[in-house]
Amino acid sequence: MDYMPVEPLRALQLHRLQWTVKYAYERVPLFRKRCEERGVRPEHIKTLADIKLLPFSKKTDLRDEYPMGLRGAPMDEIVRFHCSSGTTGKPICIPNTMQDIEVWKNGAMRCLTMYGIRAGDVLQVAYGYGLFTGGLGLHYGGEGLGCAVLPISGGNTERQIMLMRDLGVTAIACTPSYFLQGVDFRRDTKLRHGIFGAEPWTDEMRETIERETGIVAHDIYGLTEISGPGVAGACPHRTGLHIWEDHFYPEIIDPDTLEPLPDGEVGELVFTTISRCGTPMIRYRTRDLTRLRTEKCPCGRTMRVMDRISARSDDMLIIHGVNVFPGQIEAGLLRVPEVAPHYQIVLESTDTLDRFEIKVEVTDEAFSDDIRHMENLRKRVLDAVKSIIGLTPKISLVEPNTLPRSEGKIKRVIDNRKK
Ligand code: ADP
Ligand code: ZN
Repeated sequence: MDYMPVEPLRALQLHRLQWTVKYAYERVPLFRKRCEERGVRPEHIKTLADIKLLPFSKKTDLRDEYPMGLRGAPMDEIVRFHCSSGTTGKPICIPNTMQDIEVWKNGAMRCLTMYGIRAGDVLQVAYGYGLFTGGLGLHYGGEGLGCAVLPISGGNTERQIMLMRDLGVTAIACTPSYFLQGVDFRRDTKLRHGIFGAEPWTDEMRETIERETGIVAHDIYGLTEISGPGVAGACPHRTGLHIWEDHFYPEIIDPDTLEPLPDGEVGELVFTTISRCGTPMIRYRTRDLTRLRTEKCPCGRTMRVMDRISARSDDMLIIHGVNVFPGQIEAGLLRVPEVAPHYQIVLESTDTLDRFEIKVEVTDEAFSDDIRHMENLRKRVLDAVKSIIGLTPKISLVEPNTLPRSEGKIKRVIDNRKK
């Protein structure tokens, strides 16, 4: 499917979109009600562009209709529930049918194939197993491809390393922050691939990981509401992430006006699932910010490419009146080679101006007792960050291995400001 010519691909998408709209209209009361309010009926969807006639859906709909108000398929077709990790609030619940699981597995397998992973590879799945989609998503994707899967889940880093060595693990799937536990993966392992996602990470982070560990760091994207990891992934040309748009139809909208934006413009990513039944999501607003690229990818895949997700709109910080994303700070920090990829952003209210501090670890090699050396480094870090965000935070250089580590999605921002 990855290489399907564009014309039949669009025809397939339209067919599946029409099917999904009819399916949801007949089965999901909230969707039907919203369509009726707009005077839209399934037969009005005659072209892909007609998708703009349909109402949006949001995370709050899933919360308001908790636990299963947006379920499409009858209960006897539901085989599994997943819940989002609730990074940004109360969790939501997504019922899946067997077909949904197959669609999801298909996306994960296509990502792994694109990364060059094959039968014979040993895949350590260090994403959490359970309600979170990371573990089971990569698990079924890896098995489907014929990899030898090690379902170790998150945590217990020492055992992770031991089994990685003993079993000759060649690929690991986990959050980029968990991978960066400060272990030298180059020694005594056969590790060649990292499959990283579930949280925003930057090109600079990818370069740091590849330089420090000698593996190839692949990007995988997904979300519980739309299935799980494997909605999109980066090909070796690194033009961005190919979206498996035969299953997940993407749009980019202006988050304020809600108008669709043309390819090439940055806005909020919106997905419509076009082959799922358990919870058909129509025009689901992901809160993730990106753009669809206009260029074709040299790999030959026809599936549209989006920029890597460097930010979710919920993560935007307003500091001293300026909009700042944690990814911008990460990019600045990691341009300084003496800085380790471990940092924390701390915000506090004070009587005058809010305090804005960035704590960042220095690499073992660069850490020193020489105050002049450290002061010089601090200035360079400040300049690198300042040149991107235009603000002057307090930079605190800290010793290696002193900031908190994470086993799943990392929390980098400590915002203690009075709201
Ligand atoms: P939650 O919203 O509770 O974190 P999920 O566990 O379903 O729910 O996580 C999905 C979200 O994780 C996405 O909407 C996105 O913000 C983030 N995410 C997933 N993969 C990536 C990735 N490769 N790059 C950046 N962000 C990602
Ligand atoms: Zn490509």
